[in-house]
Amino acid sequence: MGEKRYIVQYDRIGCIGAAACVAALPEAWEMDEEGKAILKTSNDKGDQMFELEITEDQLEQHMEAAKACPVTVIHIIDKETGEKLI
Ligand code: SF4
Repeated sequence: MGEKRYIVQYDRIGCIGAAACVAALPEAWEMDEEGKAILKTSNDKGDQMFELEITEDQLEQHMEAAKACPVTVIHIIDKETGEKLI
């Protein structure tokens, strides 16, 4: 049985630059020169949507960062079922 996978989805258009994601998880998030967040090593899906595949052991820390975002532009999806966790 394979390890479960999740997709972190980031909608950059709505980012207000609060940097709460960076504070929660600096390993995955950083601020750019426009004052918006960058999800490190993510795939550019177009229209300022970015996705990063993570493993189950990374889920909790990514959930913390997603919950910290005041404008809820960070979402996490169960890759297998498509269920939206946040
Ligand atoms: S917490 Fe949300 S609004 Fe703030 S920088 Fe991160 S993605 Fe942008």
